[in-house]
Amino acid sequence: MSNNALIPQSKLPALGTTIFTQMSALAQQHNAINLSQGFPDFDGPRYLQERLAFHVAQGANQYAPMTGVQALREAIADKTAELYGHKPDVNTDITVTAGATEALYAAITALVRQGDEVICFDPSYDSYAPAVELSGGVLKRIALQPPHFRVDWQQFVAQLSDRTRLVILNTPHNPSATVWRKADFAALWQAIADREIYVLSDEVYEHICFAEQGHASVLAHPQLRERAVAVSSFGKTYHMTGWKVGYCVAPAAISAELRKVHQYLTFSVNTPAQLALADMLRAEPEHYRQLPEFYRARRDVLVNALSNSKLEILPCEGTYFLLADYSAVSDLDDVSFCQWLTKEVGVAAIPLSVFCADPFPHKLIRLCFAKQESTLLAAAERLCKL
Ligand code: PMP
Ligand code: GLN
Repeated sequence: MSNNALIPQSKLPALGTTIFTQMSALAQQHNAINLSQGFPDFDGPRYLQERLAFHVAQGANQYAPMTGVQALREAIADKTAELYGHKPDVNTDITVTAGATEALYAAITALVRQGDEVICFDPSYDSYAPAVELSGGVLKRIALQPPHFRVDWQQFVAQLSDRTRLVILNTPHNPSATVWRKADFAALWQAIADREIYVLSDEVYEHICFAEQGHASVLAHPQLRERAVAVSSFGKTYHMTGWKVGYCVAPAAISAELRKVHQYLTFSVNTPAQLALADMLRAEPEHYRQLPEFYRARRDVLVNALSNSKLEILPCEGTYFLLADYSAVSDLDDVSFCQWLTKEVGVAAIPLSVFCADPFPHKLIRLCFAKQESTLLAAAERLCKL
């Protein structure tokens, strides 16, 4: 290294490479069946791919409007009205982002100031904490307990302070596969109604919900939605995580602030993909309406194939993840167990403790069932030998 080279003092010194990247790399290295990182091993709808090619060929290849193409925002507004009984304003309330990840980052950056407290629920998705930290916020992580991972609302109220600015929730929940009930949103509203607290609701698995009562969205709660950002991802809905297109819905005043961040983070999202997604939403609404059944079938294939294994399967109400307790198989901690499983058994999974700040002594791993039946059966055959 020359004398001119500089090593920056890290703004995120504790942060390494994400567990998803680590486990997928280990799976590849050992030729293991990869049920770790969440992505399908099958393709998205043919019509969507054809519309992308069509719009590229038509020359829709220049910058999209900063907030997203009009046709897509209109289709999102109509879908939201149909599903949650609330039609967001097409011009002021909907922002198309580079995946849900960008929406989450923009919302957190827009809302959290130096010293503000942010509440989230552990196990929590890994992108929240670094965004809060970069904004100078202080994360208060409430630990949820298996197998039901339900919020204790008294414990929640006890965490509130005059500095609380934002609550981040995720339903259907990655990695626990549990979902919030309407009653949870009612309890949340009761707790924060008299305070200036915003809500960031990560609903990327909104269409992958098996619960009898269906997906409860923050957008269906008339009071909460006036101070909430709801985040969605087309990557999950259309089996194409690599397209990285998502969006968020928030009232005009909140959207205006998060758009200031979005404007200089990415400015806008790729045009032909947005046009193709608008066509898809209009032409084939059955795709998202049938998604719960589509994934329920895959979940059941994996659950049934593991029924003779020593793994104890936890209830799965949503997402494309299944939790398995391996207490009867090994004494290893979950990170070591996942490494061993990948290298020696040929199945890659995700340990749960990495999503938690407090020690998480449970022996739980996350298996992704967004896979072809043959992949799931091959993985289960190996897991049944444990
Ligand atoms: N939130 C959760 C809970 C997720 O599981 C994911 C992706 N797996 C994201 C956000 C990010 O979504 P995207 O790929 O659209 O950025
Ligand atoms: N969200 C995906 C998961 O939970 C992974 C996304 C990523 O790799 N960043 O597996």
